[in-house]
Amino acid sequence: MKQNRMFHIVTKTWNPITGCYHQCIYCWARKLTEKLRRRGVPKYKHGFKPTFHRNELRKAKYFSENDFIFVSDMGDMWGDWVDARWIIRVLEAIRESKATFLFLTKNPKRYHQFLNLIPDNCFLGATIETNRDMMYFRNRISKAPLPSVRYKAMKELEWEKKFLSIEPILDFDLDVFIKWITEINPKIIYIGYDNYNHKLPEPPLNKTQKLIKELTELGFTVYEKTLRKAWYENKH
Ligand code: SF4
Repeated sequence: MKQNRMFHIVTKTWNPITGCYHQCIYCWARKLTEKLRRRGVPKYKHGFKPTFHRNELRKAKYFSENDFIFVSDMGDMWGDWVDARWIIRVLEAIRESKATFLFLTKNPKRYHQFLNLIPDNCFLGATIETNRDMMYFRNRISKAPLPSVRYKAMKELEWEKKFLSIEPILDFDLDVFIKWITEINPKIIYIGYDNYNHKLPEPPLNKTQKLIKELTELGFTVYEKTLRKAWYENKH
């Protein structure tokens, strides 16, 4: 199966801050970082330990106005552990650019701390894979803030360009999840299943299709990534 990990609207990725401590069980960036470290790539000599790459900052001014840049897909630059000075330096570099930038985090409450400094050419995104905190916790999906904490932070975020990634999608309660998403009111939503066969507690395909249909009927822009039957569904 083709592994469909990037958002199709993204033209380039840019990693001035890498690494993450959320320890999601499905994390591909950690595995890729480890591979690059073993190959001796200097940028990843610290592995997945959060690291600031000052040399990357100057690239920002060379992005074109048609670029849609995914910032720090090799980590979570809004984790609580990230030095505020690093974040401010990245935001300053972005201010010099005409491109559009996408942030994605599992700790969106940190956006609130920097809201006055974030330039308008940024989409503020969060990954929220489910509305079910207890299932998330019991299955040890991640050490990131629970989905309900992310939902609340995104709902309260006063920002026009919000982005929501529901990937890898996990089983959910349709009415509650739709209520959450409606309250967050993202401009762009991506939905997709796990690409790496982690056997996550994912929903059946017809339930995900129903979610997409209802969100589309509500007027949301929903893009599909990997859509397939759940691993436990009969493939025949
Ligand atoms: S938040 Fe992202 S980068 Fe961090 S462990 Fe989870 S999947 Fe990996």
